[in-house]
Amino acid sequence: MSDIHQLSKAVSDRGPKQQLESAAIILDCREHGESDLIVTFFCRHHGRLTGIAKGAKRSKKRFVNKLEIFTSLLIRHTLPKNSQLAFIAEAELLESFLALRQDILCYSTANVIREFTLLATQEMEGDKELYPLLLWAFTSLDSGRPPQAILILFLIRFFTAIGYSPQLHRCLDCNQEIHEAETYTFHAAAGTIRCSSCNKGEKSNTTPLSLGTLKSLTAAQDQPLHRLQRLQLSPHSQQEALSFLHHYGRQLFQREIVSWSFLKTISSAGSKNRQQ
Ligand SMILES: [Zn+2]
Repeated sequence: MSDIHQLSKAVSDRGPKQQLESAAIILDCREHGESDLIVTFFCRHHGRLTGIAKGAKRSKKRFVNKLEIFTSLLIRHTLPKNSQLAFIAEAELLESFLALRQDILCYSTANVIREFTLLATQEMEGDKELYPLLLWAFTSLDSGRPPQAILILFLIRFFTAIGYSPQLHRCLDCNQEIHEAETYTFHAAAGTIRCSSCNKGEKSNTTPLSLGTLKSLTAAQDQPLHRLQRLQLSPHSQQEALSFLHHYGRQLFQREIVSWSFLKTISSAGSKNRQQ
């Protein structure tokens, strides 16, 4: 018997107890047996949770069309105990983000956001900043704002929320604040920038960041969430920022971000089409 079967049996033996109600975003959903779904969701107070929705594939009333990735829901659930799954009793749809689902670039961007969140969190874990940030990102993508800019702004805040804020305000070595007389490179292993005077020609594991990009990114780190989308990044800054954030993500998690490759393919196909 697989772990998941044991977990699921333990949940059904125990039955639903101490139900809570949480606003949540679905990060993963997979079929289990003939009628159940195993769902991973992210909520403000408990972070990431995985639960079983018994009979969800058949239930028209409690779950139909609700338990899909990226959906925002109000979920009635228990908390997992002793490494068992949570029990999902019912879900009420808050937002299905339909526009996000209908645009492949938006959907692929949301998928990168989803992969980063799953990589960075464990069960019952997640900073309280992460839920509003996820909701902000999916709402922004759904409302038609440029996906690249949303991804940049999400990731710069995400790294801070998980405790790995890249240090972009001053040079690691001379400690001088960023200023016009210098150019800068980001050193992924150290999570910080160096000015060109201090950088001893180190090229591996570094990405260039111009002053304009650094100013936009530090502003994004410092702004309250509701003012984030006012920030504008030039096309050059967007390219630099995406390259640095991708690089830093791979360094932090020590692996490739799978969904990023697909996003790159979609983006370059899109820009080729626009040129034609
Ligand atoms: Zn320096």
